[in-house]
Amino acid sequence: NKQVVLKNYATGFVKDSDFIIKTDSTMSLKVPESSSKGVLVKNFYLSCDPYLSFLLQKSDSSLEAQFSRFSLGSTINGFGVAKVVDSRHPKFEKGDLVWGITGWEEYSLIAEPDSLFKIEHTDVPLSHYTGLLGMPGLTAYGGLFEVCNPKKGEKVFVSAASGAVGQLVGQFAKLTGCHVVGSAGSREKCTHGSVLQKFLVIHVRADGHVLLSFHVWPLASFSVEIAFSISSITQDPVDLLKNKLGFDDAFNYKEEQGLDAALKRYFPEGIDIYFENVGGKMLDAVLLNMRMHGRIAVCGLISQYNLEKPEGLYNVASILFKRLRVEGFAVFDYLHLYPKFLDLVLPQIRAKKITYVEDIAEGLENGPAALVGLFSGRNVGKQVVLVARE
Ligand code: NDP
Repeated sequence: NKQVVLKNYATGFVKDSDFIIKTDSTMSLKVPESSSKGVLVKNFYLSCDPYLSFLLQKSDSSLEAQFSRFSLGSTINGFGVAKVVDSRHPKFEKGDLVWGITGWEEYSLIAEPDSLFKIEHTDVPLSHYTGLLGMPGLTAYGGLFEVCNPKKGEKVFVSAASGAVGQLVGQFAKLTGCHVVGSAGSREKCTHGSVLQKFLVIHVRADGHVLLSFHVWPLASFSVEIAFSISSITQDPVDLLKNKLGFDDAFNYKEEQGLDAALKRYFPEGIDIYFENVGGKMLDAVLLNMRMHGRIAVCGLISQYNLEKPEGLYNVASILFKRLRVEGFAVFDYLHLYPKFLDLVLPQIRAKKITYVEDIAEGLENGPAALVGLFSGRNVGKQVVLVARE
């Protein structure tokens, strides 16, 4: 059983060298008789999520109470998609497909499977349960609809807009009739084009590699990675956000001279709703550009997670003067909405009105690098790790 194990606590930015890949050759593929409700699962997909960086650090933080950290030598765990291989739990049986918290390993023995959910809808790619139909999807839904209450015609700004959460926030806001602009951070965040939609996906990675994935889903799929310079065919994130994900406009925040000026250009009349994924300088500039009674859903502050000292905000007075509502939230606040969320999103997926871009790293051993890449924006869309084919 190959496993991704924590070797060193992360200090600052998490690094590949904080992990080692180990093989446990003693693992049995049966739930031990001593376990009254354990399940053994074979992992297919693992989800790379920014919150994992907190669990990899040793130092105390205000999030301590909400998460339990990984200990040195332990296998990393997080959201994933798996198949039940053996079960002593009344709710699960052999062959069930599940999503929820599992280990970064080929097989996981889950003693208390309270955070595993049975997958009922298998007419969509299973990898979507790490993103679109999983935790990031519910985050986008809860944050936008419960916190921001968007109305037709409102101006919405989304940061980290091409990521797991952001790409859905933008599409949900568009479905509501809002005007949506997104920001993303690399010119190479380019067309994740599907040429023959179901059969051949050409994915141009930020590192200049081209990944050709052939899908004869659900029968088989395989990928070929070709390394060559694709600078002539890369396009900026505007193309991905506008032409594939349906945003009204988009900009590469790293190429802007000033964020305030950029926001004024895209929102000459101001922003009604800001879906905050990054924090720092972006949040400060947004505060200046909010309209009266605007709403800000503070989903995440990824630009601040690995800093020794978080950046200061200078424009907080805007919250007062413009009567803004700024509300932080955690996806766990909205677990009860998951069935309602599925009712909205499944028909939209089937009608191809929602698109979801995934960045699939092949092989458990490439998991650490994929996770590390979130913090430099190497992922194009939802970062997933493929452990084994279905
Ligand atoms: P993404 O798929 O968006 O990946 C992270 C992206 O963040 C990167 O691709 C990069 O995109 C951007 N980024 C990384 N570092 C920086 C930086 N220093 N400054 C600006 N942007 C940066 O991740 P998710 O969609 O999974 O998560 C998005 C946010 O939502 C995170 O802050 C996360 O913590 C939060 N979150 C909160 C939840 C909650 O319950 N409140 C639940 C899930 C996620 P780019 O190229 O655009 O820079």
